[in-house]
Amino acid sequence: VTVTGPVTIGIDVGGTKILGLAVDSAGVVLAEEKAPTPRVLAPEGTGDSGGDAVIESIVDVAERLIDGLATDGDGRGRSERVSAVGVGVPGLVDDDGWLRFAPNLPGGEGLDVKGRLSQRLAPVKVVVDNDATCAVMGEWIYGAAAGASDAVMVTLGTGIGGGLIVNSAVARGALGFAGEIGHMVVDPAGPACPCGKRGCWERFASGSGLGRLAREAAHAGRLDEVLRAAGGDPEAVRAEDVTSAAAAGDERAQAVLEELGWWLALGLANLANILDPSVFVLGGGLVDALNLVIEPVRTAFDHLVEGRLGRPEVMISLAMLGERSGAVGAGVLARRDHRAAADRPD
Ligand SMILES: [Zn+2]
Repeated sequence: VTVTGPVTIGIDVGGTKILGLAVDSAGVVLAEEKAPTPRVLAPEGTGDSGGDAVIESIVDVAERLIDGLATDGDGRGRSERVSAVGVGVPGLVDDDGWLRFAPNLPGGEGLDVKGRLSQRLAPVKVVVDNDATCAVMGEWIYGAAAGASDAVMVTLGTGIGGGLIVNSAVARGALGFAGEIGHMVVDPAGPACPCGKRGCWERFASGSGLGRLAREAAHAGRLDEVLRAAGGDPEAVRAEDVTSAAAAGDERAQAVLEELGWWLALGLANLANILDPSVFVLGGGLVDALNLVIEPVRTAFDHLVEGRLGRPEVMISLAMLGERSGAVGAGVLARRDHRAAADRPD
């Protein structure tokens, strides 16, 4: 493999797994390492954030990648092999690299992610950003949003993350907290969200939202085959049961996916009204399933967006980098001046 320019490590901390990639400056992935995301909660009354296990897992993935890039006896230190490590974490990340709020990462809240990782990985530079902001960077530089002046990345996994390109730059807001699109409330009387509110978009249009819609359908007798396969208990029906049944042609499972698709389109229409992107990039673990209902999503979007007849079509694309958008983008952010005006295509 020919390596172009400096090599960086990009790490995407998801709700269930941590994915790390070694990426060169042409976006070529040189190595991959994974670890499960620890589900460790703070011991009660200790005041500990409980984030130690998360930090340890990130360090482990980074070190495996850094060590893997070493050639035997070349005598180089790790900062010579790798120019920087970029890490994307779910939740509100401030400009100093602290994770301030993290409803989908138990134990991650109030964690000095950048400081802790910098200490462990020194002398390698560490940058930390929101996971979906990393994902939009990956898709903007190498993927489905390439060349767009205005684009929105929607990562559909355990929750929904958002990354925004506005006026040809990453939009982070005043505090670094912009793009929390999953917690846009679409039904104030809706189901409770881990963020403490009710009826957030991600309760309807994410992987966990799909599981909830599926259990509702199973209780209502609208998902017989899937329910039988899950052992007859509606509460045992999972999102994966629906996506695999829909892929196999089960029309009732497809109808549940279309229901999710309508909620997805509702949020996209709201975002289009505010941000006017030329493209939405859909990424995250739910993307393969969404492929089955992408046409109904487009149709619903056209009905829900303001003034469809007066506006050119907004592209709704699937992430070209697949589940790697976030990790590749974290690697891109690592090799740039983090959070500087330099967030532009090379
Ligand atoms: Zn919420």
